[in-house]
Amino acid sequence: MQNRYNNYLRRQMKDQVIVKSSKKNRWVLAILLLTAVLLGGAWLVENQAGTATVPAHPAHTEAGIAPYRYDSTKKYIYLTFDDGPQPGTLSCYHLCLTEGIKASFFMVGLHETMKSDGKQIVNMIRSGYPRFLLANHSYTHANNKYLNFYHHPQKAAADFFQSQQALQVPYLIARLPGNRSWVREGELRASGLVRPVARLLDSAGYNVIGWDLEWDFNHRSARPVETPETMARAVDSAFYKSNTHTPNHLVILTHDRMFRHPADADSLAKFIRLLKQNPGYVFETVDHYPGLKKLRP
Ligand SMILES: [Zn+2]
Repeated sequence: MQNRYNNYLRRQMKDQVIVKSSKKNRWVLAILLLTAVLLGGAWLVENQAGTATVPAHPAHTEAGIAPYRYDSTKKYIYLTFDDGPQPGTLSCYHLCLTEGIKASFFMVGLHETMKSDGKQIVNMIRSGYPRFLLANHSYTHANNKYLNFYHHPQKAAADFFQSQQALQVPYLIARLPGNRSWVREGELRASGLVRPVARLLDSAGYNVIGWDLEWDFNHRSARPVETPETMARAVDSAFYKSNTHTPNHLVILTHDRMFRHPADADSLAKFIRLLKQNPGYVFETVDHYPGLKKLRP
């Protein structure tokens, strides 16, 4: 829209050179300029309305992505990648770019320090907004000792706060390691084990995002279990049966490391292409999931 508006103004500038000689043409020029001002105003109003639910983001905004506008006739898919930065993150990043879809990365503070290019990858995701959303998946990932982690809720909450700082996560959106809880405005759905930490995160203003459908991986090889066709059918079926946390919105959980091998990255590409064949599906980032609390600290 902005490009079209800039082109329009450029055309107006050329027109000005042509018409400036006669008095009659000065009126034409005045009308054209007035039109340009009115169009500009309309663009601003439209843009403000379109982004009313999206807070200004500090990072660079990729050109060519239309401002978010909810369409009740569509079904929204939130593709999420967990545990990055790790081998596979870049492959997911480039694939989403190539396929022109949006995705969210729930990243782990400690993992940033474990890869020589960890910081750079996190920066790429953070500054890739609105195509990519960087979200909080804790600092230590519970050291994969979930029971111990959730039995110390204050420490666990502090782990999320540390990651928020370390990764400079822009919004208060998190996912609990190894757990499918949901925390949104007026909602806290969590098992007894994680409820205390979910409550602490809730009172600190966090949203916690679970998932509807997981693309499983082999826990030894980290390679995907289901085929892209099976996954695409599972998406269709979940929407059809309204088997999602929120009707018409579906969160898919995958892990970056599942797609580090080219053959598996191809499976992800195939899955995305199968979903893109349905014109009713829209890929969004989880900051647009319905019912979230204010996204800013
Ligand atoms: Zn995880």
